[in-house]
Amino acid sequence: MKKKYDHFETAAIHAGYDSKDMMGSLSTPIFQTSTFTFDTAEQGERRFRGEEEGFIYSRLGNPTVTALEDKIATLEGGEKGLAFASGMAAVSAVLVALTKANDHILCSNGLYGCTFGLLTMMEEKYQITHDFSAMRTKEEVRSLIKPETACIYIETPINPTMQLIDLEMVAEVAKEYEIPVVVDNTFSSPYLQRPLELGCDVVIHSATKYIGGHGDVVAGLVVGKRDFLDSVQMTTQKDIGGIISPFQAWLLLRGLKTLPVRMDRHSEQAEKMVEKLKAHPAVSNVYYPSGSIQKKQMSRGGGMISFEIEGTKQTAQELMNHLSFIKIAVSLGDTETLIQHPATMTHAVVPEKSREQMGITDQLLRLSVGLEAWQDIWNDLEQALNKIEKSLSNKTSSMVNK
Ligand SMILES: *Cc1c(COP(=O)(O)O)cnc(C)c1O
Repeated sequence: MKKKYDHFETAAIHAGYDSKDMMGSLSTPIFQTSTFTFDTAEQGERRFRGEEEGFIYSRLGNPTVTALEDKIATLEGGEKGLAFASGMAAVSAVLVALTKANDHILCSNGLYGCTFGLLTMMEEKYQITHDFSAMRTKEEVRSLIKPETACIYIETPINPTMQLIDLEMVAEVAKEYEIPVVVDNTFSSPYLQRPLELGCDVVIHSATKYIGGHGDVVAGLVVGKRDFLDSVQMTTQKDIGGIISPFQAWLLLRGLKTLPVRMDRHSEQAEKMVEKLKAHPAVSNVYYPSGSIQKKQMSRGGGMISFEIEGTKQTAQELMNHLSFIKIAVSLGDTETLIQHPATMTHAVVPEKSREQMGITDQLLRLSVGLEAWQDIWNDLEQALNKIEKSLSNKTSSMVNK
């Protein structure tokens, strides 16, 4: 974090904006404009030459968007930030900027579905290959690095099984080969995990999730070194053009102010839910970030839990249908508690065999713990679990009777 703020909570509120610059407006104004006027023709020329700072056209920069980019850069501890129309616009801008035809990308063992789709397309169109690795040891990482490896791309915790990768360890190996490490930090947010401070090079967010935090915006963010982000800004952002709108940027600026408060509450509630789920007889497995890697790189476990229940795919679907206020939906990080079934929803596109290898069974459910009273969340889950437990024991006893 930049030295100006001693604590994350203060930076989350103040970084990137000073009301003195904007006629005392406490909230960052929304600059709803496509273009910016020049005082003279010569000024326009200077701006285009890069000899004078200033705005030109909103695809190349906008004051509301800049405030957001400066805030996220401060929070992640990076030199510069860039904002995009979606998490996938951010992922594709970074991966296209880092690679050329016939390169190779080393990935974590499990990726967001559309990131997997993008890598498949890059392989088909540009012969950019990729390998997956659990990255448990330095040797395991080294063994898959090739002369043409252009970057290492990591998600941790891995969705939906919450396995962790030691970011500092991977960054040390990457330094030996001078390969950049890109981390999708969506599940943790910079409040819980800051990959750049651990030696990684680029951080990506689907800001749709915890950064926005209220389920009302789709957006993406990238943070890293100034040189690299300048090049992204002038190439894959400017020329592919997946930019954020000023209003979406404003929603994220608002969301970020409460990120620390929300993440603490999400984590606290998730911890309670993990205990309760582990003790329920209808639940066979609970996945939540813990152990030495968690302690080393994440200040808390976050708000995401996956759990396996007894029974079949139908039992999992029954459980979801029995819920009262917990919503059946993909996405995560919202105020509302959301539940989804990875095998038929977020990971339905993954071939069954790879799904099995990734631990995504038909009985696995993913819960994004919201900000409702935790007792209410548990009561809703418990009554649904009790119902499936009852129908499971009915089935078993009728089988025994036959
Ligand atoms: C949602 C998500 C994305 C994609 O972000 P969008 O904002 O939906 O484009 C990428 N990575 C992770 C881990 C996600 O959860």
